[in-house]
Amino acid sequence: MRSELYIDGKWTAASDGKTFEVVNPATEEVIHRISAATAKDVDSAVKAARRAFDRDGWPKLTGAQRARYLRAIAAGIRARQAEIARLEVLDNGKPLPEADWDIADAAGCFDFYAGLAEQLDNDPEEAIALADDRFTSKAVREPIGVAGAIIPWNYPLLMASWKVAPALAAGCTVVLKPAEVTSLTALELAAIADEIGLPPGVLNIVPGAGSVAGQAIIDHSQVDKLAFTGSGPVGSKIMAAAARDIKRVSLELGGKSPFVVFDDADIEKAVEWILFGIFWNQGQVCSATSRVLVQDGIYGALLKRLIEEANKIRIGDGLDEGVLLGPLVSKRQYEQVVAAIDAANSAGATVACGGTRPEGFDRGYYLRPTVLTDVPLDSAAWVEEIFGPVVCVRPFKTEEEAVALANDTRFGLAAAVMSRDDTRAERVAKAFRAGIVWINCSQPTFTEAPWGGYKESGIGRELGRWGLNNYLETKQITKYMSEDPWGWYIK
Ligand code: NAD
Repeated sequence: MRSELYIDGKWTAASDGKTFEVVNPATEEVIHRISAATAKDVDSAVKAARRAFDRDGWPKLTGAQRARYLRAIAAGIRARQAEIARLEVLDNGKPLPEADWDIADAAGCFDFYAGLAEQLDNDPEEAIALADDRFTSKAVREPIGVAGAIIPWNYPLLMASWKVAPALAAGCTVVLKPAEVTSLTALELAAIADEIGLPPGVLNIVPGAGSVAGQAIIDHSQVDKLAFTGSGPVGSKIMAAAARDIKRVSLELGGKSPFVVFDDADIEKAVEWILFGIFWNQGQVCSATSRVLVQDGIYGALLKRLIEEANKIRIGDGLDEGVLLGPLVSKRQYEQVVAAIDAANSAGATVACGGTRPEGFDRGYYLRPTVLTDVPLDSAAWVEEIFGPVVCVRPFKTEEEAVALANDTRFGLAAAVMSRDDTRAERVAKAFRAGIVWINCSQPTFTEAPWGGYKESGIGRELGRWGLNNYLETKQITKYMSEDPWGWYIK
């Protein structure tokens, strides 16, 4: 396990020598300590990224040259996939097969953006047809500069990859701050970058507190672009900081995503997708479908099967074979989710299953899969993101009512619909005010497709070619082709 900051191609302790604890959420034991970056360390990291961008030529490499580095990082991740997945479980608590999946996806993300970096050399978006044929014009895309990336703890290496891969592909250099509760695998990414010979300063990793290291990144005048995934309140701070300096900004924030199940749906399949939509990663998923709306014809039968299956989910240490639900990431998160369940109860909701610590677990931040019914529409449980294994289930009568309930939220990250009637599913998909819509499933995520939210769920899109655009500026270059002067006034 690495314990130091990675700045300008070197491992270094924090300038004030301070460290923070790494806690295994399955055992509550302190398993490691990591240097906590200070504002001074962040300044060194930004200056290194600046030099790599302005002087040392990272943006001047061809896309194909940068792609070679990205592919080498992907290969480096794959070569150590098992080891990195294990670290992710120790740090975050998720079941090992999920961690394994995340790490494979992270490697895939670097390969995907290597492909887009190569395409930048022959950018298909270049040619512009002008109405005036005395001129030719082209649009060239160029990297924005130094990107400050700040990420959460729910998919530690994957979130790092979603930002670092497109930024490096575009030709930006990066200062990345992982979440303070899950910094281990971001440091492994730095180790891989180091091993494959990524030039110094191109990628800098500065673990530390949000209020110190994170704040120093967003306040730094030499950072050109802020890319953030996390909570709404911190997202607001980041946007305010970006507004002050006119930094480019992209935000991926929270959600309270609906899953509408019509009564022509297969109940068993619906239950499977509902479980996946809310209990995957212990429900600590920004796009979790945490509000399930079920048409009244199958409401009773579906709820019964959902509770039976939720009660069967095997809970335990993510490293143990067959475990499907690990502990929540931290004591703080565990306490927040328990408080949200208590508040729902006080507001009149029924805890149909779960809501408590599973039997036989004295240590670790474990919580049973929880199904809430009768949740008042104006209660926090229905309105606010809980970010834990807690789903609210509610009946509806008509399509119109379902769409209105689904959209009655200040968030708009994701939404799902299940029906055997394709026309209806498509119609509802279009009616959802959300950036990601799933038909007959919930949560499958693809590196090629745009990811991001409407309304308070964020600004901009990650992944796919949209993700690359987050790190590019567009410049027009227009050439006058005629010998005849055009003059300062129009003839
Ligand atoms: P958080 O906002 O508390 O922290 C996210 C990151 O911001 C951390 O690295 C933290 O250290 C940093 N930070 C905190 N204060 C800061 C400050 N003042 N300046 C700069 N950085 C600061 O969120 P979290 O608890 O880590 O994650 C949970 C939240 O993230 C949920 O609300 C969830 O919905 C959201 N999320 C969204 C997505 C998405 O793709 N839309 C993905 C994952 C998580």
